Amino acid sequence: SCMVNKFEVVISGEDLLHRLPDYPWIIVDLMFWDKHIPKEKGKVTLQLRETYAVMRRMFWPRKLAITWVNEEFKRMSKLPLNKVEAFEGSTAEFLKLKGIERVVLLDPNAQEVLSQDDLKEKAFIIGGIVDMKGDKKGTTAKIGEELESKGIEMLRRKIVLRGDIVGVPDRINHIAEILLRMLYGENMEKAILAVQ
Ligand code: SAM
Repeated sequence: SCMVNKFEVVISGEDLLHRLPDYPWIIVDLMFWDKHIPKEKGKVTLQLRETYAVMRRMFWPRKLAITWVNEEFKRMSKLPLNKVEAFEGSTAEFLKLKGIERVVLLDPNAQEVLSQDDLKEKAFIIGGIVDMKGDKKGTTAKIGEELESKGIEMLRRKIVLRGDIVGVPDRINHIAEILLRMLYGENMEKAILAVQ
């Protein structure tokens, strides 16, 4: 509600949130959680805590979703899981619940570069994947195949610095911050340089 006195109009934070345009989801997909060795699982959870911190800092906290959440992740995560959408089902199920039929999959092996037009979509997926043990090349694309098999339309897009993915930090939280900066209107190069 909105209190009016002689000098000012006070709008509560809750009201302000309802007035914002419907901003997109950022979804971290944990489908490949079990492909990780324990040390990598530690890194995935650390990067998710950092992603949550980035989203709070940039006023985007309520639209972080984590899918395929499992018991081990819950134990390790140390995240306020009540403040994000911690979803135990698949990404496809989550999207169906939200009525979203088309998503952007952020994938370093995509053909196409993320464009201004893509930023209008309702959901962006980042793979909850960490590469220490080097056997996960192409894993992000598999997340896309899984979603397509469930009838979700997929826009696979890469983030590049001067035409190349080399030079783009691939940590989950860095990709999230680059995306958030672009959603706020920064261009790709500037956003990448800001997180490096
Ligand atoms: N080994 C994985 C593969 O080959 O698909 C990459 C994992 S990367 C460490 C973690 C996630 O960050 C990816 O799933 C992807 O969503 C995102 N990511 C990393 N670099 C990216 C880039 N240059 N463009 C788009 N997304 C990127």
